[in-house]
Amino acid sequence: MRIIPRHLFVPEKCRAQAYEDRPLPIGYQQTISQPYIVGLMLEAVELTGTERVLEVGTGSGYQAALLGWLAKYVYTVEIIPELAQSARAMLIAYENVEVLVANGSIGWKAGAPYDAIIVAAASPTVPPSLSEQLQEGGRLVLPVGEFGSQELLRLRKQRGKVVTENLGGCAFVPLIGEEGWKSGAFSA
Ligand code: SAH
Repeated sequence: MRIIPRHLFVPEKCRAQAYEDRPLPIGYQQTISQPYIVGLMLEAVELTGTERVLEVGTGSGYQAALLGWLAKYVYTVEIIPELAQSARAMLIAYENVEVLVANGSIGWKAGAPYDAIIVAAASPTVPPSLSEQLQEGGRLVLPVGEFGSQELLRLRKQRGKVVTENLGGCAFVPLIGEEGWKSGAFSA
C-alpha cells in the first residue's frame, strides 16, 4: 500500500483526503473502499504471488493494482462500463491485471477456478456461483448482510466443503445482480 499512490485513483477534488483512512466517492454513487478494509481483505485471501484471483467490483482499480502486486494473475469485473474504462487506463502498465465489464455477481466463469476471490460490494447472501468458482483450498472474502451493514466473511473450500469465518462488521455499496441485490431494491 506504500507503493501504490492511492491519490491517483480518486477524483482530483478528493486528492487532499486520499491518505485518510476512509472511503471516498469515485462517481456513479460508488466509492473507493477504506484503506483499512482493503488491507484486511488482502490479508484475508492469503496471497503468496502464485495465485489466480478474481475481484468483483473494480471501482477505481486501486485494489486491483494491489492484487496485481500480490498475485500472479487478476481478473477484475466491473458492472459500470465508465468505471471499468477509467480503471483500465489506470492499470495499463499492469500486464497481469485484466479489467472486464460484466455482472460479477455470477463470477467470471472463463477464468475459473480461482485461488482467491475478493468481492468489494455487499450482497444479501453468498452468491453460489462465487463459491463454485473457487479452487480446492481457495479463499472467498466478501461482505454479506443487510443494505448498509454487513459482516466480512472468509469462505475456504476444504475437501469440497466450504468453511466460513466471520472477520467482523463492515459497510459496502451493494452488489447488483442475479445473485446480489436486484437493481432498484435499495433505491428508496
Ligand atoms: N475495489 C474498488 C472499490 C469498489 S466499490 C476500488 O478499489 O476502488 C464497488 C464496485 O462494485 C462499484 O464500482 C460497483 O459499480 C461495482 N459493482 C456492483 N455490483 C457489481 C456486479 N454485480 N458486478 C461487478 N461490479 C459490481
